[in-house]
Amino acid sequence: MTFQTFLAAGFALMGALASAQQTPAPFTVHQLKPNVYWVEGGGGNSGVIVGDKGVIVVDAKTSAAGGKELLDDIAKITPKPVTTVILTHSDGDHVNGLASFPAGVKVIAHEGNKKEQEKALAAGGRGAPPADHLPSEVVSKNRESLKLDGVKVELYHWAPAHTSGDLVVYLPNEKIVFTGDIIATQLPDPLIHLEKNGSSEGWIATTKGIVGLKADQFVPGHGDVQTKSAIEKRLTDAEAKRAKIKDLVAQGKSLDEIRAAVGDAPPAQGRGGGRGPGFAGFTQVVYEELTKKGV
Ligand SMILES: [Zn+2]
Repeated sequence: MTFQTFLAAGFALMGALASAQQTPAPFTVHQLKPNVYWVEGGGGNSGVIVGDKGVIVVDAKTSAAGGKELLDDIAKITPKPVTTVILTHSDGDHVNGLASFPAGVKVIAHEGNKKEQEKALAAGGRGAPPADHLPSEVVSKNRESLKLDGVKVELYHWAPAHTSGDLVVYLPNEKIVFTGDIIATQLPDPLIHLEKNGSSEGWIATTKGIVGLKADQFVPGHGDVQTKSAIEKRLTDAEAKRAKIKDLVAQGKSLDEIRAAVGDAPPAQGRGGGRGPGFAGFTQVVYEELTKKGV
């Protein structure tokens, strides 16, 4: 290879990499039951439930383009219109694709979710939710049993966990649960947004609730479908880790000492890379909860 062809090959490769970054992979539609699907890609997982006359969607992807791709995928499954969206929580990668949904679609969310979206909307900026698709039906009870387009749907909020406004979506007839980010498989530990009043104790209560449901397929907020035993293991691991952190806090250890003792990787912050602020890890969340309560 001459130097010129070497350079040309290098530029061609760079061009291919750049276009690969610009064109995200298409979403993948997975079928769970004759009338129930989950859609992977473009942020959080989405659920698609085909009812008698319309479609119920769980979570709406990150952007207007993602929301449109989701609707296009649904149109390939069924000609029925989307009538209802249920949101598992307020994070933008589950909500902001609503910008592409039809006007007047019913949006069901927990009251804490609605408050968080209103706050994000008032703050403005790129991550703000679409103003014309705020939740239109608010859940304030811990359990709500609904019939949507002929489909039995139960909504649960045991406690603030990932955020203050989590909803777990359960289809009792199909034995399927959509957990939202209570379960996010890219991380070994629970992901808790303290800035949205999430709670590690609430996460444990919520995950106990999830494994108590009669279901055999659990669609997480991120990652592949989980079995009940995989979620039980996450629960046991999180309880053990929380108990260990609690002991170390009682011994007066610092956060860095506790992180080292529980075997956490050092925090990624400060490494540059321009990825914006990372979320507090589980150890930090528990540490902050326990040290705050003691004051
Ligand atoms: Zn989230």
